[in-house]
Amino acid sequence: MLAGTPSGESPLTHAEIVPARDGRPTGWPDWVPETVRAPFLARGVTRPWGHQAAAAEHAWAGEHVVVSTGTASGKSLAYQLPVLTRLHTDPRATALYLSPTKALGADQLRTVHDLRIDGVRAASYDGDTPIPERDWVRQHANWVFTNPDMLHRGVLPRHGRWTTFLRRLRYVVIDECHSYRGLFGSHVALLLRRLRRVCARYGAHPTFVLASATVSEPAASASVLTGLDVVEVTDDGSPRGARAVALWEPPLLEEVTGENGAPVRRSAGAETARMLADLVLEGARSLAFVRSRRGAELTALGARRVLSEVDPELAAQVAAYRAGYLPEERRELEQALLTGALRGVATTNALELGVDIAGLDAVVVAGFPGTRASFWQQAGRAGRSGDDALVVLVARDDPLDTYLVHHPQAMLGAPLERCVLDPTNPYVLAPHLACAASEIPLTRDDVDALGGPAALAVVDDLVAEGLLRRRRGGWFWSHPTDRPHAGVDIRGSGGEQVVLVETETGRMLGTVDPGTAPATVHPGAVHLHQGESYVVDTLDLDDGLAHVHAEDPEWTTQARTVIDISVEETEECSAFGDLQVCLGSVEVTEQVVGYLRKLPSGRVLDSTPLDMPARSLRTRAVWYTLTETALLAAGLAPARWPGALHAAEHAAIGLLPLVATCDRWDIGGVSTALHPDTGHPTVFVHDGHPGGAGFADRAHEALREWLTATRAAISDCECPSGCPSCVQSPKCGNGNDPLDKAGAILVLDAVLGRLAEDPAG
Ligand SMILES: [Zn+2]
Ligand SMILES: [Zn+2]
Repeated sequence: MLAGTPSGESPLTHAEIVPARDGRPTGWPDWVPETVRAPFLARGVTRPWGHQAAAAEHAWAGEHVVVSTGTASGKSLAYQLPVLTRLHTDPRATALYLSPTKALGADQLRTVHDLRIDGVRAASYDGDTPIPERDWVRQHANWVFTNPDMLHRGVLPRHGRWTTFLRRLRYVVIDECHSYRGLFGSHVALLLRRLRRVCARYGAHPTFVLASATVSEPAASASVLTGLDVVEVTDDGSPRGARAVALWEPPLLEEVTGENGAPVRRSAGAETARMLADLVLEGARSLAFVRSRRGAELTALGARRVLSEVDPELAAQVAAYRAGYLPEERRELEQALLTGALRGVATTNALELGVDIAGLDAVVVAGFPGTRASFWQQAGRAGRSGDDALVVLVARDDPLDTYLVHHPQAMLGAPLERCVLDPTNPYVLAPHLACAASEIPLTRDDVDALGGPAALAVVDDLVAEGLLRRRRGGWFWSHPTDRPHAGVDIRGSGGEQVVLVETETGRMLGTVDPGTAPATVHPGAVHLHQGESYVVDTLDLDDGLAHVHAEDPEWTTQARTVIDISVEETEECSAFGDLQVCLGSVEVTEQVVGYLRKLPSGRVLDSTPLDMPARSLRTRAVWYTLTETALLAAGLAPARWPGALHAAEHAAIGLLPLVATCDRWDIGGVSTALHPDTGHPTVFVHDGHPGGAGFADRAHEALREWLTATRAAISDCECPSGCPSCVQSPKCGNGNDPLDKAGAILVLDAVLGRLAEDPAG
């Protein structure tokens, strides 16, 4: 147990040692020439690890491959070897590198530059590349480092200028490919199909090399992402020190109560600050991952406060780190942490990608980061070969966190999540088909290759809207002078984005999805944008503008909404006695009617009414119904049904990330004691974006596992009648009322009992 923890509490729910692993080096592939090998040898890479060589061999043989291994296992070498060798030996060959963030791309580019291999001309091509330099890159670079956004807006629409580069394209490297999931992943999947189509037009069929964090079934996800058959390499051959992994649940506070009188736990941030201080006192070089930038700053501040009472010099060894740092600043901080000049750093996930820190003594993760894959990625910053390290997960007030700290097997032993994406979503397909047609007219084969059977209907719609024109040679974009690309936001859900503008300066801060804007940037809302806090002054949905000012009040806001859901089409429905489980498309109508101001303790300050227009969303949902008789037989009187179903719905939304790579903000739910379309008490869980991103489908597929975990998360929480760790939801439109914790367990037992009776289902 760490020092500083009051005795008499046992927040440590589990601890185990993940044993050390010996490295398995192997020989250099015989096709790697001495000149490519030499700079690696000079850097101490005497021989590649098994996974690096295996993946490189596949890529060299022209097989599409994904390497999925742990943080700091050296995945880069897997693609560097084939790409550098090809560029070095074939003066005409080219390669493309894609990363989800600029910081990561810049780091990878720097590494390649530093190798100084003859014949390799690597350059970046992104939004920051000056215009005159862009010409040089197009004409002379043979390894271009860019990102999906630039590929979409800058390269494909003007592929004619890239003819030479694309004709010679031998490799496409997709780094951190697990980032491409959900809606963003669906967009990138179509973007890559567009890239392949344009390449094919120039006679090029590049080999795809993907690098992923450890996820479940990486080849399956990589195949959906690229539309190609991909082989996987998952056997990590790099060495690792032993790591002690501890799961920690902050205790319930005795004095404070939250919404509807619910008990409140000590915050994960405060707990993390204490741990960071303890670790620095022990002389350990430690990193704490916190959700928001403000949280990171508070955590660093908290740790410094504890330390300054012991030794002011120690307090100076703790810092906060955030996104938006310049590369030099990042490098400085990395160095300080590596040399031990800094001992404790609190950071947001900004540090997760594109930062070269590994081999620390301890990592504290404040709140489950959404997926086990990213937990292990963060945890991977701790531990050097030969040295032991500590990793702590501190649970937040959240049903998924509660479940995981009480079910270490699910956290530490289970296979990781699958990367879920759905490139057949018509809302994603339509804009990409339009972009593709404007790049090169679409043939029937193109339509099939881009979107499968679903795509033809989407093309017909585009023709009906006048965007495409059917001619003998295929489908043509109707407006040759006005390309569709700029209007397609590959990181958003389509539609006109709402622009956030700082009132005082007129500075544009960023954009918010139009679907979520009424709930997240209504007047009075406290809105976190890239870790910074703002308060919204006005929201104009017609003009797509929200005016905000920088302010960091002590409260947060939560919208209150009225939600209605109707079933558009039931695609699958299975009966298990008086339980029905269905999957299909739905229309969700949501109206924001007000908001609550809440203190961090959970206490509600007040409620303010709002008059906002209703918005509707067509998407996919999974739902289950139980008959009235079944609920009565489960011991639930009708008066308890709304609260029981509502609580079961909340917890299920909180637990879905266990089986799909979403976070609870990507999905929504509706529960009702009588739904007009089903005629019975019903719980719906739906995708939060138009057309869906595959989450409802995945929930349907993993129903038993998902609801079993949901039931356990509720019953494991020691609160008497519901709290944010089990059935309360931070995004509930009904102010978490009514909620019946015990009733939710009865509902879920009834569902799971019926599912278990049916061995086939
Ligand atoms: Zn609880
Ligand atoms: Zn609710």
